[in-house]
Formats: sequence, C-alpha cells, structure tokens
Amino acid sequence: MIVSVTMNPSVDISYPLSTLVLDDINRCDKVRKTAGGKGLNVTRVIHQMEAEVISTGLLGGVLGEFIRENLSSEGIKHDFSNIQGDTRNCIAILHDNYQQTEILEAGPTISTEELTSFEETFLTLATSSDVATLSGSLPKGVSKDYYSRLLSLLSNTDIKVILDTSGESLKSALESPVKPYAIKPNSDELQALLGEEVSTDYTNLSDILSHSLFDGVPLIMVSLGKDGAFAKFDESFYRVEIPSIPVKNPVGSGDSTVAGLAIGLSKRKSIEDVLKYAMTLGMLNAMEDTTGCVDKTKFDDLFNQVNVYKL
Ligand code: ATP
Repeated sequence: MIVSVTMNPSVDISYPLSTLVLDDINRCDKVRKTAGGKGLNVTRVIHQMEAEVISTGLLGGVLGEFIRENLSSEGIKHDFSNIQGDTRNCIAILHDNYQQTEILEAGPTISTEELTSFEETFLTLATSSDVATLSGSLPKGVSKDYYSRLLSLLSNTDIKVILDTSGESLKSALESPVKPYAIKPNSDELQALLGEEVSTDYTNLSDILSHSLFDGVPLIMVSLGKDGAFAKFDESFYRVEIPSIPVKNPVGSGDSTVAGLAIGLSKRKSIEDVLKYAMTLGMLNAMEDTTGCVDKTKFDDLFNQVNVYKL
C-alpha cells in the first residue's frame, strides 16, 4: 500500500470568467470545487491507476468534512487527523483566455498536540505501507524541518519515502540524518534549492545531482515538462525521453509524476520502469482538463513510447 500525506490540503475553487473586471462585481455560473493540495492529486492519480492508496494529513471545519466526503464519494481510503482550525480554500480565477489569477489562503495554524496526534496516525498507516509520499507546503505552526521529523519516525522501517516539496522544507530534509528515498524537483525548485541558475543540459544536471546536498538520497528525478526528465539512481544517471503529446492542462503533472514513482516503487519495478511509470503518469495528467486526473486506458500505449537511456 501507498500512504499519501497532505499537511495543508485545500478546497480548490475555480471561477472561469471571460474577463476579470477589477474593482467591480464579477459573476460566475460555472464554479468547480474540488479536494485539492498536491498530496490529494497524488492520491487521486494512484487511485485512478487502481493501486492501493490511503490519504492522510490534517483536516478541520466544514471544508475538512467536504474533503472527507469528496474522497469517500470517489472510493478513496482516507484517515486524516482532526484539527481545531478550518481547512483553507484556494481560489483560481481563469480569465481573459488563458490567464489564471490565484488567491491562496495560508490555512490554519496547527498546535503541537494536533501534530502529535497526526504522527500516531501516520506511523500506524506507514507501518502497513511500502511507500509514503510527502507532498506540498507545511501549514502555519509547523516548523520548516517537519518533514525531517516524519522521516526520522520511519528510520527503523523499510518504507520508501518520496518527498515532493520545495525551499526550506526540502533543504532541511536533505540535510537531516534520515534521508528521503526519492525527491522530484523541477528545474525551478532545483534552482531555488541551490541558489544558482540551473542549466538543464545533461552534463550540468549530472554535476548538480552529484552535489553533496543530495548524498544519501538514492533516487532524484528532475522533471523537465515537455522535455521529459533527468534522473540519478544510486551512482548512475538516466535521461528519460517522452513523445510529443496533445496537452490540455499540465498543472499537477508533477504530482502525477510522483504518483507514478510511488506506484513503480511499490510494485518493485526496475529503475527504468519506475522512471517510465512516473513520466507516463505526468503526461497522462497533462492530457486531461482536470488537475490530478489520468485516463488509465491510455497508459500502456504511452508507457511504450517512453525511452530511458542510462548515461
Ligand atoms: P506541477 O508543479 O504543475 O505539478 P512540475 O513542474 O512539478 O509540475 P513538470 O516537469 O512540469 O512538473 O511535469 C512533470 C511531467 O509531466 C513531465 O516530466 C512530463 O512527463 C509531463 N509533462 C508536463 N508538461 C508536459 C508537456 N507540456 N508535454 C508533455 N509532457 C508534459
């Protein structure tokens, strides 16, 4: 089983408008409200691929209940810890052809007691799982190195942890004594992490992934959008080539890539196939309108068009 963690979930609201008028009333009759947050995208994609997944994290208030009901109605297993505060809304206004204006609430502040209670749930779920995914930002009240804390809780287990976060949370996890099994930065995240320009040519990426900051992390997959990915596994480097596809909405393709890594690792596939799973699901998400959504019937055809080259 795969356990997927979302520490700061949201109810995502999208308002499609032909034009956004500032300082005036904008009316919208096609509102969409979905359970959101990077970890929930990961969960949904794993579930759509019919692999076993359970979603956990922190939820509170009526929006927390909305997310629970939403997951249950899709047949997705979940076990979130309750918090006093209210789960947040994140608003995306889609307007003027392809512009997207977002309003992201910071979300509730989490108490120490609430974190302790979550950790008990997490440990119980993790002990019956072979892969854990930790995705996204951390809520207020939770220190930036909290993912290191979760990693340390699993130090005596064989569970493989895939960490998909950025900035300080990622840096502190890479510097912690217990390392994640895999990370999936995109080139912007890599740049922010290292504080320098990152050219995505393969020689440069090999040099970058040999940086001591990544020591002890077995699998690093740098996703490169339409250009596929570059990966380091143990001491070897891999270039992953993908076909050209009809793209509808690439938002969430990174989360879908993480879902693919999780499924591949959980099925104990070869590294080449793990990378192919990840890329195939990234592409399948980009081919759909809805974020965090894939069409399983197209998987095999696309999987066979992904090529992995060991350098
Ligand atoms: P996000 O933050 O939106 O979740 P990301 O920046 O983390 O995405 P990307 O590198 O954009 O991740 O995309 C992940 C994978 O999804 C790519 O490696 C590729 O397989 C697929 N993908 C994304 N965008 C495209 C595209 N335009 N064409 C083909 N494949 C794509």
